[in-house]
Amino acid sequence: MGRALCHMPRGELKALAMTDEIIPTAAAASAPVPKDWIMAIAPYVPGKSKTDDGRSVSKLSSNENPFGTSEHAREAFRSAAMTLERYPDSAAVDLREALAAAHGLDPARIIYGTGSDEVLHMAAGAFAGPGDEIVYSRFGFSVYPIATRRVGAIPVVAPDKDYATDVDAILACVTERTRLVFIANPNNPTGTFCTRAEIARLHAALPAHVLLVIDQAYAEYLDPEDDDGGMELARTAPNVLVTRTFSKIFGLASARVGWGYASAEVIDAMHRIRQPFSFSIAASQAAVAAVKDTGFVERCRLHNREWRARFEAEIAALGNKGLRAVPSRANFSLVLFEGETSAETAYKGLMDAGYIVRWLPGQELPHGLRITIGTEEEMTGLIAALRKIVAD
Ligand SMILES: *Cc1c(COP(=O)(O)O)cnc(C)c1O
Repeated sequence: MGRALCHMPRGELKALAMTDEIIPTAAAASAPVPKDWIMAIAPYVPGKSKTDDGRSVSKLSSNENPFGTSEHAREAFRSAAMTLERYPDSAAVDLREALAAAHGLDPARIIYGTGSDEVLHMAAGAFAGPGDEIVYSRFGFSVYPIATRRVGAIPVVAPDKDYATDVDAILACVTERTRLVFIANPNNPTGTFCTRAEIARLHAALPAHVLLVIDQAYAEYLDPEDDDGGMELARTAPNVLVTRTFSKIFGLASARVGWGYASAEVIDAMHRIRQPFSFSIAASQAAVAAVKDTGFVERCRLHNREWRARFEAEIAALGNKGLRAVPSRANFSLVLFEGETSAETAYKGLMDAGYIVRWLPGQELPHGLRITIGTEEEMTGLIAALRKIVAD
């Protein structure tokens, strides 16, 4: 087939000539051929919401808010039901203004997407491509390898320091081919935290061409004095993107609202590849109402802090059974099973008792369970069940 009648925008022919050289043609295949880098992706495994035999039980596997969402957010969502036929505002003006007012930001420098997952994908898509490298920590968030491979970039995994992010190990992985560093702070699935000084040190040592993406999905669970300084860096530095979500403390996981903040130049590049229309009108209005309900957020943060501490103390008391909780700053705890009872046994025993938690063999953590901090009732019941499992 000739190309004579095909039209390509100016500049594209040269790009095509280049890719033809690197990427072999699929013309001889009998079916569409996915890119190698796509087939190298291990699909994301979500938390379960039912037991293997179909019972609905306490779901402590996805770090959702056990108190639901703000009553104001629910009301705002409901009242948007009459506009389902309308496209949402592509510019997300209401949401950006609410966020800008709440955080003291420039609304023009806020990017948004269907969950912060999409914002992470946009960062990789705008700043990395085939042959480029993206660095993240071992036991980092499981979306980073997917976002990296999706754009044909090469994942470079820095060793951890007892499950936590090791800033020096990350820096040692950075080369002139590095385009992005992803760091979740606090991190999921470990709950570990890099201090403000560590983040500042990481940023100061990174070359100017590297975009530092600080994923703050759990920022609202931190004590106020534990601010990691990420937002301040995103305000002032040309190469820092902070991402946030409404899925965790705000209890709007189903609404799929995420956002990010960075320099005008970084945000401009990301806008070029975002979906023209993102989360629904109802989702946007729920998020706007949720931002304003600071009382709800504060109650959830305090409950989480109390029950996370109690849970960690309970696990410490089971230290003689080989259990250990990685110190967490988030709304979950990673419990390691280093004694006779395996994580798999505990996972199944908890499921029988009515609690679904996250067992993570696919993330190099076959000896770990990630357990979301639930209500008082859920935590009391789960702790009793866990005690019984390790005693038997
Ligand atoms: C849950 C989570 C997210 C994103 O969730 P969205 O629902 O896509 O906003 C991002 N990063 C980390 C570390 C998370 O745990």
